[in-house]
Amino acid sequence: MSATLEPGLAFSNWGRCESAEPAFAAAPASVREVQQVVVSARERGLRVKPLGAGHSFSGIGMTDGVRVDLTAMSGLLRVRGTRATLGAGTFLWQLPALLAPHGLALQNMGDIDRQTISGAIATGTHGTGGGFGGLATRVSGLTLVTADGTVLSLTREDDPALLAVAAVGLGALGIVVEVEVDCVPAFLLRGVERQEALGTVLDGFGERVASADHFEFYWFPHTRVALTKTNTRLPLSHGREPLGRVRTWFDDDLMANSLFAGTVSLGRRLPALVPTINRISARMTGHRQHVDHSYRVFAVERRVRFREMEYAVPVEEVPQALRELDALIERRRWNISFPVEVRAAAADNLVLSTASGRATGYIAVHRYYREDPGEYFTAVEAIMRAHGGRPHWGKMHARDAESLREAYPRFDEFVAVRDRLDPHRVFANEYLDRVIGA
Ligand SMILES: Cc1cc2nc3c(=O)[nH]c(=O)nc-3n(C[C@H](O)[C@H](O)[C@H](O)COP(=O)(O)OP(=O)(O)OC[C@H]3O[C@@H](n4cnc5c(N)ncnc54)[C@H](O)[C@@H]3O)c2cc1C
Repeated sequence: MSATLEPGLAFSNWGRCESAEPAFAAAPASVREVQQVVVSARERGLRVKPLGAGHSFSGIGMTDGVRVDLTAMSGLLRVRGTRATLGAGTFLWQLPALLAPHGLALQNMGDIDRQTISGAIATGTHGTGGGFGGLATRVSGLTLVTADGTVLSLTREDDPALLAVAAVGLGALGIVVEVEVDCVPAFLLRGVERQEALGTVLDGFGERVASADHFEFYWFPHTRVALTKTNTRLPLSHGREPLGRVRTWFDDDLMANSLFAGTVSLGRRLPALVPTINRISARMTGHRQHVDHSYRVFAVERRVRFREMEYAVPVEEVPQALRELDALIERRRWNISFPVEVRAAAADNLVLSTASGRATGYIAVHRYYREDPGEYFTAVEAIMRAHGGRPHWGKMHARDAESLREAYPRFDEFVAVRDRLDPHRVFANEYLDRVIGA
């Protein structure tokens, strides 16, 4: 493939909640070819959208114009100290092999590694850890092709203000062709997973987030149990204490995927059983501890397809917001089979990061992809909004530009940069029209 515009093929996202029929597709293999794609699309009045791994639940990656596949522009391009420059189409799962020879790793990760580096930073993808930010906070340089075909290179040293706008760029400012990520020396994590009383975890949430490197928990609705995960950073010299093959298969394959798929589908057929199934599932997920490479502890495999909404609230609001969510589910007598995931991140200075300017807690709700999440997500969104919530840009939500402007004090800084870099909205789509304006 090349810069040529070929006929497009229909596609949908991982969660099967968004789909599109782009008129054209292109797969450029160089910055020059990306420029050619942008210029020829603009001349024909077409809109342009690069696609990462399609793992966003929102319509952020959809287009009726030109879908740009950047798979041919992936890999490790340069390493300077701890800074690694990656081709925009590089998948996170490729990073351990690329970075290991340089003794480097990502500082923090979310719970999967299927995304591309560009897709992940564009939507503000994050993991957990009160002292750590999302992936975009580690971006120290970015090269984009903007709407007029210009190549714009930004560095943390020379263009800190513009980089703070472009790092979580929502795909609205141009096509990212290179990302420089400030990595850290490779490290191990001790992962400790336990069942704890939900009330105790909520009461101590702020303190747990502050005292652990990476704390998170899952709560199965209809139960009083939190499954906590506490990850502690260790040097490589500590040595690995990995889980045995059988234990890994039992926990990560059977329990987290195969058996979970069975219980979710049983719950769909017999919804009244969901509370009992959840109680049994929570009880069966036992205590475990292991020490392994950071990327093996951070990321897991997700084979049960779902849809997700995630809200960022001030970290101190998490206990109350979760209690209200619990009360809502019981009051409405919903049977919710998927656990709620609760995480945290440090405040950062990126303009549209969900953690911009405030220490943040994240509350994520899920539904099986064949179930309509509508009523549940709408009601959860109302609770999170009342707590000053900001929705994840890559997950389902119903907010519009007017309401998001209230949630982000620097919203108009982003809009001004977009007006300058993409005045004719070459990179727009329906989702961006709704969340930042047409
Ligand atoms: C199973 C699952 C688990 C997840 N876990 C987490 C998690 O732990 N934490 C979290 O925060 N999120 C999580 N997410 C959400 C996910 O990280 C984000 O939606 C992320 O954006 C997906 O990356 P992607 O490569 O699939 O990007 P896509 O969804 O394909 O694209 C996202 C946006 O990035 C833009 N984009 C892609 N490449 C470029 C480029 N080169 N230049 C400019 N714009 C570009 C696209 O146009 C689009 O607007 C999860 C999603 C799934 C399905």
